[in-house]
Amino acid sequence: MIRIALPNKGRLAESTRELLERAGLEFDMTHERSLTATLGDDFQALFVRANDIPEFVADGAADLGITGRDLVEESGRPLEVLLDLGFGRCRLAVAVREEDAAGLGALPAGTRVATTFPRLTRRYFDAAGTPVEVVPISGAAEIAPHLGVADVIVDLVSTGSTLRINGLREVATVLDSTALLISLPEVLRRPGSATPVRELVAALESVIRAEGKRYLMANVRRDSLDEVKRILPGISGPTIVDVLDSGEYVAAHAVVDRRDVYRTIAQLKEIGATGILVTQIERLMP
Ligand code: AMP
Repeated sequence: MIRIALPNKGRLAESTRELLERAGLEFDMTHERSLTATLGDDFQALFVRANDIPEFVADGAADLGITGRDLVEESGRPLEVLLDLGFGRCRLAVAVREEDAAGLGALPAGTRVATTFPRLTRRYFDAAGTPVEVVPISGAAEIAPHLGVADVIVDLVSTGSTLRINGLREVATVLDSTALLISLPEVLRRPGSATPVRELVAALESVIRAEGKRYLMANVRRDSLDEVKRILPGISGPTIVDVLDSGEYVAAHAVVDRRDVYRTIAQLKEIGATGILVTQIERLMP
């Protein structure tokens, strides 16, 4: 069995589970709150805190892991990124008190920075050539500037509403983060592991790729095919299928970008298409 460390709760837990299930890996748990589960034929899931996953994988307690890039980079361990999973999007940002933000240039030397990411914070300010004092804390960084514990913070932000509520303003980005599938580099060279791990990566990739696409079908007039080709370019053009007992109409099928669907439908309607149908795609392999 290949052991894969997964977030047991928190922001990444549900999306991780959904993605694995969509890739065809069913969780077989003995209890709802069980600490392990079998996952397909080849994998065993270990449910642990997202923060601990880089260490677990680096120490070999798990062969693979899913966790945030922020946590992987903060760990400083030599981990290999097998796949960017796209969810859990956030950024590690520098934020200052609203009242200090006006007219702020570079931070003055000796600025105290409260953060749960001391390593990344140090690396960022070293690279910027700003000597700061890093104040490591274990959570709720946004309160630190108001308590006089620090002058600024480095914290995770997604919508920015938590910062706003706490009277803070984002002034710089330290790191952009999403959830990653990670391993030690040698896992891919281990006999017995390489094939199932590659199959897992391919399955996850095909699900992620399909998310941004839709399958579109429409009945179009046979004499409008040149226009159809212009509207539905695709890689090798749309698939054209005969419609039984309808000499005048054919069915056009194509994979389109999710963001282009509304525009494509309007253009197809303009050339008299009927029976337009849009469906989700489970997997897409180029
Ligand atoms: P957890 O502490 O288990 O909820 O997981 C936190 C992880 O979720 C972080 O390390 C990030 O990788 C990710 N994440 C995504 N959006 C946010 C956010 N707005 N705030 C904190 N963490 C986030």
